[in-house]
Amino acid sequence: MKYNQFIIIVGILLYAFLAESQAIYKQLIIHDIEREQIVKLSQLGVIIDFVDKDNTIAYIRPEDMHILEKMTINYTVIPQHHRQRQPDGYPTFDQISKIMQSFEQHYPHICHLHDIGKSYEGRSLLFMKISDHVMIEEDEPEVKYISSMHGDEPIGTILCLNLIDHLLSNYDKDAEITELVNELEIWIMPLMNPDGYVHNKRFNMQGFDLNRNFPDRVVDNQNTTTGRAIEIQHVMNWAFKHSSVLSANFHSGELVVNYPYDSDFDSHASYSATPDDKLFREMALSYAQLNSPMYNSPHFPFGITNGVDWYFVYGGMQDWNYVWMGCMELTIELYSAKDGPSYSIVPDVWNDNRDAMIRHISWSLAGIRGLITDVLTGEPVFASVKVKGNDFCVYTDPDVGDYHRILLPGFYDLIFSAKGYATMHRQNIAVTDSDAKRVDIQMIPISLQMVLEILQGLSNCSTSNSILRFDVTGDDQLDLRDVLYVMHFISLESVTIID
Ligand SMILES: [Zn+2]
Repeated sequence: MKYNQFIIIVGILLYAFLAESQAIYKQLIIHDIEREQIVKLSQLGVIIDFVDKDNTIAYIRPEDMHILEKMTINYTVIPQHHRQRQPDGYPTFDQISKIMQSFEQHYPHICHLHDIGKSYEGRSLLFMKISDHVMIEEDEPEVKYISSMHGDEPIGTILCLNLIDHLLSNYDKDAEITELVNELEIWIMPLMNPDGYVHNKRFNMQGFDLNRNFPDRVVDNQNTTTGRAIEIQHVMNWAFKHSSVLSANFHSGELVVNYPYDSDFDSHASYSATPDDKLFREMALSYAQLNSPMYNSPHFPFGITNGVDWYFVYGGMQDWNYVWMGCMELTIELYSAKDGPSYSIVPDVWNDNRDAMIRHISWSLAGIRGLITDVLTGEPVFASVKVKGNDFCVYTDPDVGDYHRILLPGFYDLIFSAKGYATMHRQNIAVTDSDAKRVDIQMIPISLQMVLEILQGLSNCSTSNSILRFDVTGDDQLDLRDVLYVMHFISLESVTIID
């Protein structure tokens, strides 16, 4: 057998195996289960998809069924029928791609379509960037919306297409939309799991649940792409090159806004608060308040929930964004039935979510923002920004040096850190509920900081009338280049050398 024939046959067998592994996940309804048992099942790799007071929906591999017997869990297997998507009226993947392309053709000055990589079966992950000056990175917060990482939850895909259309078609017509497009860089990916969408499956075609396969602070503490689903690798690699500060990922199966954390080191925890819990709750509430069916949810007070308070999710995208990427993400469940709604009522669901989405996006303009540059070169610096007493970091966009820390009104002390630079502090910054307060920072290279400290300690050095005096023949020898740096930094006019 020729080598390339061998490769093809192995490829076919591998594909068949993966397709089979995808097909044989069993979907279950679990009855009368304790909260601790749900957490235990998650830890053992059973995928918990939905929890309410009566039932829990889960996915399990057949070889793991013994876990249920061992834990004496009462369950019913849900029979799986192959369902075609098209009769529902939802667009095909090819139609979605064409819609995305047509947006770019109609609005080339404010949107640009990016293909950030191929799914396991070779379909493009399409990410639309919407902004003025769309081809360049500006000093603007980046916001990202990603939908349908579960391929059998199509409603978010349609709502994201509607949102793109809404932003583009109202530019220069609606003042609020125009401001968002001018002031932000908005990225929208209507379909993160195109293979799952085509096959009407929750999982990708490698058999991964894309919302259980991200790095996780509790069980998978490595922020690398190694061994992860191909679609996740593309999203992670995109995120490593950008600094989005606000995001949402859209699902269906419930009607609620879920905020971090989704998992906790204490498996008995009933709530897992981030250091930004108050901000997350207000952000989630501001979404739900504009979505009346969500706000009046019979299951969740005011239509919001902490992730752990609902059920544990290990490896979710939301916690990864917050823990590693400096991005505040919400998981938004758009509709109470997973595979609905029927296409005819999509306009109603869109009406329920349109203003809530716009309100949510505008959060990215609140708090403190600025540019972080090198004091000597003026070049942007890749730096992290922390509020004193809060471990959450946001990061500058390395291309421009801009940072954006979303905050509630109040007074904050900020800490700016970057490799090779002295750590900088700014205290008592007042944040109001209007536009973000601007605090630009010029970072001082550590070598220069050391020179400044040496100068301050020199007995034979003095500054007066903008003239620096020191004795170069003394014990403290200085490199002339460092002296010039110091002069540049403190704007000295001249140096007098005393013999
Ligand atoms: Zn989902």
